[in-house]
This record gives sequence, structure tokens and C-alpha cells, in this order.
Amino acid sequence: MNRAVTNIAIPAMMEIGENVIDTLGERLRQHGFQSVTIMWDGFVEASYGSRLLAALDGCSAEPVLLDRTFSIQEITGRAFQLPASDVLIGMGGGAVIDMAKYTAFLRKIPVISIPTSASNDGFASSGCSLIVNGRKTSVPAKIPFGIVAELTILQKAPDPFILAGIGDLMSNITALYDWQFEEKQGAGTVNAFAEMLSKKAVNSFIRTPMADIHAPVLLKELISSMTMSGIATEISGSSAPISGSEHLISHALDQWADHPQMHGIQVGVAAYIMALVHEHRFERMRKVFERTGFFDYVRTLGMKQADFLMAIDRAPKVKPNRHTYLHEEAYRLKAKQAVQSDPVLKTILH
Ligand SMILES: [Zn+2]
Repeated sequence: MNRAVTNIAIPAMMEIGENVIDTLGERLRQHGFQSVTIMWDGFVEASYGSRLLAALDGCSAEPVLLDRTFSIQEITGRAFQLPASDVLIGMGGGAVIDMAKYTAFLRKIPVISIPTSASNDGFASSGCSLIVNGRKTSVPAKIPFGIVAELTILQKAPDPFILAGIGDLMSNITALYDWQFEEKQGAGTVNAFAEMLSKKAVNSFIRTPMADIHAPVLLKELISSMTMSGIATEISGSSAPISGSEHLISHALDQWADHPQMHGIQVGVAAYIMALVHEHRFERMRKVFERTGFFDYVRTLGMKQADFLMAIDRAPKVKPNRHTYLHEEAYRLKAKQAVQSDPVLKTILH
């Protein structure tokens, strides 16, 4: 089911740059926010806590430590114990930002995401991934009111986090191809504007110099492309513009593999597999993954060929209501053949 959307929410505050975090208090006051609740984990509090609190001088700020990943039931319980505040800030990796997004959604207050790594597009998207009955599940929430991407912090994230972000972004290519296929099968409707945004987002990144993945120009491009991708999901009312068969493979690995890897790493490998199946832009994708060192990193992980073969078979079960290429047996077969015969995949999966 696709619903027509004419009114969409977009972030009102969008800051990408060096030292943008240090003027956050001023920005909050411009938007009329006085009181703020901050959610972070112990690492972020120790590394950047005093910097953020100094930046919020003049607002009343209440930090809340999230010392582990809470289930959706726990988040709901905790959300209503929090003191009232005008705005919520989630600062950290994907899990912390998702917990903050969902808390803000329940409390009906705006949320500002401050990602400390660009490892996935969660900081800009409307949905979040939470633990429901012991399993990671996609749950709807709201697109953040603000995104503050502090490059001096994002640059310090270790290589794998940036590579994961690149993997997640490259999957727009295969997700869009699946979405068009789905429409042809009469199983969905492509929203042309969401499609355009998602495509422009990934194409703009592809043209960026990639010799140094910590370079501000690359990180800026990665973050803004992911933000555009997040807005594409808001427009379409679904994750389809940025999530297709490659995400199903990753979700199947999360559920059934012994040692799942970072979301964007799994998604990147799966996107390359699906680009081979689609016979669409796989050379371009291979070049990006070679130039950035993505494949070199994956080679060190000991990811198993057998896990990918299993995940391809189980992919349709993850979202039975969709109709991607992997929902047809002939293409699952083609995907498994690619895993076993592609020269790159043969060297990175063991
Ligand atoms: Zn993703």
C-alpha cells in the first residue's frame, strides 16, 4: 500500500561543518528552545560531554546516560519518567540516536541528532531500528527536527564506521532498481520525487574524490547525501527509496548469522551482489568500494560465503509483503551464483 503524501517534514536545523556544535546553544535559543534533554552513552559523554555542555550554556540541560541498548518496552517506560523539556538531543552512534528519536516521538517533542559517526543513515531518517521481542525491528518515528554534523568529531571515527556509511549510501542504487521492479510487478508505486532525491544523493557522492575517507569534503558529501536519502523516505512514506533486496540480505544476516557485522558493511556487500544480479552499475560500485578501501576492510572480517547464501534464501521472509528481485527464485539463484563466481566476492567472503 502506498499513500499519497503532499505534506512532508524536513529538518528545520541543518548544520554540517567544523565547530558547528559550539554554537548550538545560540541556535536552540533562536528556535525558542530553553530546556534540553541530552541522551548519550558513556563514551560520548567522556569524549565530548564537556564540549556540548559548554555549547549549551544559557539553556537548562539535563543529560541522560544510556549505558546499553534498551528494548522498545524499556525505552517507552523510561520516556515518561524523563523531565519535561522543549527539545531532545541524541548524540552518538546509530543505537543512541534511534533511542532518542523514539523517545522524542513518544513524548511529542522535537529531536536533534548529533551523529558521532557516519556509519548509517539513521541520524536523518524517520524510522528507527529498535529491539522488539529480542529482535532488531524497524519502527516508525519522526524525521529529526535538527541535524548537527560536527566534522571535527566525524573525522575521528575509525575507518570501518565511515566505510559502513559508504556501503549504506551505495545501496540506494540497488534499492531504486528493486523499487522500479516492484512497481512493474504491480506490487508498489514509485514516488518519482523520492526516487530522484535518492538517486541524486548517491550520484553526488560517487563524484567526490575518495583518496582520503577522512577528508572533510568526503564526509560532508556523505552526510548530506544521507540526509537527502532520509528525506526521500519521508516523502515516500516508506524505506523503499533507500532499502531494497540488499537490506533484506543484511536483515537476514542480523537474524540468522553467527557473527553479524555493522549494518552498512553488510548492506554494502549485499548491494554489490544485487548490482551484479541487476546487471546495473556494478562496475561503478566496485570502483567506489575499491577506491575507498571498503573491499580491503571486508576481506579482513572473515565474513562467510555460506552466511550470504543462507541470507539470500531467507531474504524474502524478512519482508514478505515486498516484491524485490530476491522475492523470485530465479534471481535468488542468480545472486547465489554471483556470490560463488564473482572474482571480488570470492576473495572477500571465505
Ligand atoms: Zn541502511
